Amino acid sequence: MLNILFSAQPERWDEYKGPLNAAFATAGLQANIARDHAPEAVDYIIFAPNGPVTDFSPYTKTKAVLSLWAGVETVVDNPTLTQPLCRLVDPSLTAGMVEWVTGHTLRHHLGMDHHIRKQDGVWEERFPPLARKRPVTILGTGALGAACGQAIHALGFPVTGWSRTAKELPNIRHLHGQDGLQAALSGAEIVILLLPQTPATENILNAETLALLAPGAFIINPGRGPLIDDDALLAALDSGQVGHATLDVFRTEPLPAAHPYWAHPSVTVTPHIASTTRPDTAAQIICENISRAEAGQPLKHVVDRNRRY
Ligand code: NDP
Repeated sequence: MLNILFSAQPERWDEYKGPLNAAFATAGLQANIARDHAPEAVDYIIFAPNGPVTDFSPYTKTKAVLSLWAGVETVVDNPTLTQPLCRLVDPSLTAGMVEWVTGHTLRHHLGMDHHIRKQDGVWEERFPPLARKRPVTILGTGALGAACGQAIHALGFPVTGWSRTAKELPNIRHLHGQDGLQAALSGAEIVILLLPQTPATENILNAETLALLAPGAFIINPGRGPLIDDDALLAALDSGQVGHATLDVFRTEPLPAAHPYWAHPSVTVTPHIASTTRPDTAAQIICENISRAEAGQPLKHVVDRNRRY
C-alpha cells in the first residue's frame, strides 16, 4: 500500500479525491491518498504551492514530489526539497492554454477591440491583414509554447519559436540562444511568452528587446510576470511601440488594485486564468508517473534544479 500525501489547498481535495482514487484503482495500484499522513511514512507527495507542506525534510522515505502546476518557480529553490520534483505536463492544461492564446492572438490580429469599443454610428472600414502577413513569435517552445505554435501556424500565421536549446519543430522557424532572441523578436508583430520564471528569463522583455519589435506590436503573457520589465512595458505602451499587452500573470498576484496596468487603456489584465489543472486528467498523469516509478522506470518531467525548470 502506497501512502500518498495530497498537499494542496484544502478546498482542492474535494475535486481531486474522486479522480485520484479512480485513477489508482484503474491502474491496479493500492494507494492510501490522504491530506494527512505521518511524514516518515509518505511515499509520494502531490504538491501545489499553496498547500501545507513547506518543509520536505521530515519526508525521509518520499520518492518524488509531483507538482499539480506546470510552473515550479516557488518550490524549486526550497532547500529542504531533496526528493525529485516532477512538474505537470497535462494535455488538458495544454488544450486550455492553446485556446486562450489563440483567442487573444486572433483578437489582436483582427482588431476586435476597436469595433467592440467604438459603436458610435460611424461606418469605418478597417481591414485586418491576412494572418500570413502577421509574424508571431513565441518565447518558450516547451509543452505549452510548442502546442500554441502549431495552433497559430494552423491559422495561417508565420510562427517563430525561441528556446534555450536548438530543436526542430514542424511548421515553426526555431531559434535559440542570445543571438536567436534578437532575430526572433526583430519585426515580430505578436509576441507570446511561455517561458518559465528563472533567473535567466527574468526581464527578458525589457526596453532593449521591446525596441526590436514591429511598432505597435502586441504582447501576450501567460508565462510569468517577472518575464517582463513592467516599467519598460509601460513606457513602450505609452510611446506606441507596443500597441497592447494582454497580461495573465504578474510579479504580485493578485495584481494590486492601484497597479497602473489596471487602468491602462492598452492593457488587458486577466487573473491568472490562461489555463488551469483539471483534476480528471491531472490525476491520471500523476498516477501514471507513480506507476512508472513503482515499476522501476524513470519518472517523467523531472525538474532540473540547476536550470530551475
Ligand atoms: P516547459 O518546461 O515545457 O517549457 C519551457 C520552455 O522555456 C522550453 O522551451 C525551454 O527551452 C524554454 N526556456 C527555459 N529557460 C530558457 C532560457 N533561459 N532561454 C530560452 N528558453 C528557455 O514548460 P511549459 O511549456 O509546460 O510551461 C511554460 C510556463 O507556462 C510555466 O513555467 C508557467 O510559468 C507557465 N504557465 C502558465 C499558466 C497560466 O495559467 N498562466 C498555466 C501553466 C503554465 P528548452 O526547450 O530549450 O528546454
